Amino acid sequence: MEYQGCIFLQEGINFDLNTVCDCCISHNDGRGLPVLLENYHGELINWDDLFNKKAQRIENQKVKTIYECENCYHLNDYEFSGERKISEFHFSHCRACNAKCIYCSDDYSGGNVNYDVYPIIKDLMEKGYYKAGGEATMQGGEPTLMQHFDELVHLFNENGTIIRVHTSAIKYSKTLEDALRQNRASVVISIDSGSASTYKKIKNVDAFDKVVDSIKEYVNASVDNPNNVRIKYIIIPGVNDNLDEIDKFFDLMKKLNVVDIALDIEVRYAREHNNKDVSKHIFLLVDYFEKKAKELKIKLSIYSFLSYVMKNRNITKTKLTNFRFLFNIYLKFNNDKGKNLIYKR
Ligand code: SF4
Ligand code: SF4
Repeated sequence: MEYQGCIFLQEGINFDLNTVCDCCISHNDGRGLPVLLENYHGELINWDDLFNKKAQRIENQKVKTIYECENCYHLNDYEFSGERKISEFHFSHCRACNAKCIYCSDDYSGGNVNYDVYPIIKDLMEKGYYKAGGEATMQGGEPTLMQHFDELVHLFNENGTIIRVHTSAIKYSKTLEDALRQNRASVVISIDSGSASTYKKIKNVDAFDKVVDSIKEYVNASVDNPNNVRIKYIIIPGVNDNLDEIDKFFDLMKKLNVVDIALDIEVRYAREHNNKDVSKHIFLLVDYFEKKAKELKIKLSIYSFLSYVMKNRNITKTKLTNFRFLFNIYLKFNNDKGKNLIYKR
């Protein structure tokens, strides 16, 4: 029987700080993830129990969408095959990090929560619950600091799972480079700058040159698919939201032969600063990014929140009142009357 579901309800697992869940998709209203195991810190898993829970959740889903999944954009018509296998992996448990970004949502830098998932994935594979052909996404913290990171990448690569890693690129991984070379992996690296001084202001570590070197090596390894290396620029109001920095960023991307970039705005930072530095020049910056990317033939993706802001640049006030943050930005745009706080050119 068909039900409203998604691949993660059927075949997904997400290792988190204290839980194991079906997915890692958090919703804006803070309702939490669909949890499979509570108080989890890296113990071996009773897979039969886990798959029973997943099957029961799908049975419930056939009657009514469970609270955690309500309105999720992943919901679709699904036919439950009854297969008890995992193909989609997320690793969100690692709290160790080698950067100290001003926009970090948690104190990852000093964190030591980093339980070892490698024996658990080996166990899953040995017991026949593994399905090839899916994806393993590693995020953090800094995934390269996960225990047995290289072994895990190697294990997935050998067994037919594509690897996606969100990394600071401060620590270089040769195993990841090998997987990129085989077109079996992709990386997302948030450099947020085009110069060492701005990088340091954002990341609070002196590692710009190391990151540039890592990007160079990862790009060189990605000859078959250069889009496997995506470099991200998160606009941080008052820090990197000026055209000089964006010019330097594009110069660097060109020099490193990067062909895939992504743009976002730091929501948390803006919120914490009462949006005082968010003015309508954000529109101008995004327009400028689009112009530069087009000129240099670099693929630009604008991430969801910023894309929403851009789509609604002319929207009327009443349509925005339900979304307080956007409404605040809207007020800011309107009250600015063309005055740019930081936009210098
Ligand atoms: S529907 Fe959404 S919240 Fe529910 S398991 Fe799928 S991705 Fe996660
Ligand atoms: S790289 Fe990620 S986890 Fe590390 S400090 Fe920055 S935002 Fe936090």
